[in-house]
Amino acid sequence: MGRKFFVGGNWKCNGTTGEVKKIVDTLNAGAIPSTDVVEVVVSPPYVFLPVAKSSLRPEIQVAAQNCWVKKGGAFTGEVSAEMLADLDIPWVILGHSERRALLNESNEFVGDKVAYALSKGLKVIACVGETLEQREAGTTMDVVAAQTKAIADRVTDWTNVVVAYEPVWAIGTGKVASPEQAQEVHCELRKWLAANVSSEVASSTRIIYGGSVSGANCKELAAKPDVDGFLVGGASLKPEFIDIINSAT
Ligand code: PEP
Repeated sequence: MGRKFFVGGNWKCNGTTGEVKKIVDTLNAGAIPSTDVVEVVVSPPYVFLPVAKSSLRPEIQVAAQNCWVKKGGAFTGEVSAEMLADLDIPWVILGHSERRALLNESNEFVGDKVAYALSKGLKVIACVGETLEQREAGTTMDVVAAQTKAIADRVTDWTNVVVAYEPVWAIGTGKVASPEQAQEVHCELRKWLAANVSSEVASSTRIIYGGSVSGANCKELAAKPDVDGFLVGGASLKPEFIDIINSAT
């Protein structure tokens, strides 16, 4: 089965009502390939999810940027997977490096979140990736494998999982991984999935790249055989996101 190209837009903690309307208007007006060719998911902050979902063209889905690790209750400030499912929010981003680093989310905690969100019917964009220090120490694959293992230990059905390889040194820095660097890790990650989960999961799971993707560099990255799409931060707030969506073709 072919892997459909996937483009996610992570708006992070950005936007006002007016800015969200502008981004939505741009996305609604842009020429994008059909949903047979590319799956597009944008991820506004929680408070803008309902308005984004109701005003975006139907081909563009929405994702939350996080959810709680278990059933809701006395967890002030958290949003549960059940709430997202209740609002028909189909996707959630989990394990983003900003949350791993700033909020101390461990591999195990992210793995628990992924399993819980899937059990509630959400689809998950699960982020993995190494820091510059780890890359320079030659431990990139050890780090990425450990992050993926924590998910694999808790998940049996990978149908609704997209893995986002996001080297931390490339996020928001303007220092994009070269197409060769991205391909190398994606290929190793696919081999890891084949050896540790199954060859079926390895060949069907989308592995997308994130880290300073732009309209200018997306085509070359998208041409690599194991790069199945992108998770885009800064450029997803700009009109060039349309060009990135079109890099699938
Ligand atoms: C991200 O936050 O997931 C990301 C990839 O950011 P940027 O594209 O801005 O590097």
